[in-house]
Amino acid sequence: MPRLVMKFGGTSVADLERIKNAASKVRREVENGFDVIVIVSAMSGKTNELVGWVNQTSPMFDAREYDAIVSSGENVTAGLLALSLQEMGIPARSWQGWQVPLMTTSAHGAARIEEIPTDNLDAKFSEGMQVAVVAGFQGIADDGRITTLGRGGSDTTAVAFAAAFAATRCDIYTDVDGVYTTDPRIEDKARKLDKISYEEMLELASLGAKVLQTRSVELAMRFKVRLRVLSSFEDQTDNSGTLVCDEEEIMENKIVSGVAYSKDEAKMTLVSVADRPGIAAAIFSPLAAAGVNVDMIVQNISEDGRTDMTFSCPTDHVAKAEAAMEAAKASGEINFHGLIADRDVCKVSVVGIGMRSHAGVAAQMFEALSAEGVNIKVITTSEIKVSVLVDRKYMELAVQALHDTFGLETAA
Ligand code: ASP
Ligand code: MG
Repeated sequence: MPRLVMKFGGTSVADLERIKNAASKVRREVENGFDVIVIVSAMSGKTNELVGWVNQTSPMFDAREYDAIVSSGENVTAGLLALSLQEMGIPARSWQGWQVPLMTTSAHGAARIEEIPTDNLDAKFSEGMQVAVVAGFQGIADDGRITTLGRGGSDTTAVAFAAAFAATRCDIYTDVDGVYTTDPRIEDKARKLDKISYEEMLELASLGAKVLQTRSVELAMRFKVRLRVLSSFEDQTDNSGTLVCDEEEIMENKIVSGVAYSKDEAKMTLVSVADRPGIAAAIFSPLAAAGVNVDMIVQNISEDGRTDMTFSCPTDHVAKAEAAMEAAKASGEINFHGLIADRDVCKVSVVGIGMRSHAGVAAQMFEALSAEGVNIKVITTSEIKVSVLVDRKYMELAVQALHDTFGLETAA
């Protein structure tokens, strides 16, 4: 029998009614002839509640107990979905991560998947089980302790199962009906994409389009798992949702596929640091050690042997960054005349694999922003992306102007 992986996120299993609705989506695929592996999240809000309980009980908590506690939400939904399927007469059972087993590293709270042996599920499928409902987000380490994969980790569980079981496809059921050219809440002309390449999805996911956990897209790309994102609140057709796939599968290739944004960015500038070999390492090593997630970096031209160094990071990392820089200054590792933090910026990016073979995307982007009077504060580029930092008050305007200038409201 061909295998299909279906994943239901928290809002898709938020109550008993929705779990029944998910079960009917699964039944449809069983009737289509698939052996189905379903990966479930916890009911929406449940994981946050569990994390809250951990923090209230023990501020410096033992990460192994954190995992034991926060993984439990998924166990409930797995059992309930299996019961709903049984009520429909479908042979289904639930599986917790350790029962499969989904083997992980022992990095509690952020474990990485090492292996998913297929024998246990395979044996049950050959005995007549038609649906395996697996608790997402969790696994087991070598030492027998329960682990979790990091927030949003059920997406990664789903892709890993699709790879391990050579599934035809991995369908991610969520509360949006696909991947859009940009956020429809900001631009009402945003268009749902029928297909998007792994590379582009990776950029969009890490730039703040929160449909899929970034790691799940990386994994899908590595193992060429065809991923479909679709809504659990709509009736499905063959064209539902967005297929995330190899670029070779995509015929309609626009130069730019989407506009992404990331709202809570900060721009930090170290004013007048000595321009000498090792200065970048002396600045960014302590930032890394302090856990500051540095994104863009710009070093200005130097004058009289001194230069300004600018970088961006999430707004809630500014305090950590300031502390790390003041400490490095106090210890004499670096010297600067001032540290300026601008917390009112955002990042807006255009993404598209077509940029590899077309020049002029950056220029067109800058012209569109200039026409709207939006000042660009920092620019970075990669092979398939151009990003700018602009004042946060211009975020919506910038997204709309770029969506417009690259003609994203219409298909290619
Ligand atoms: N329930 C977990 C979370 O909220 C995992 C997931 O839903 O992907 O992060
Ligand atoms: Mg999610």
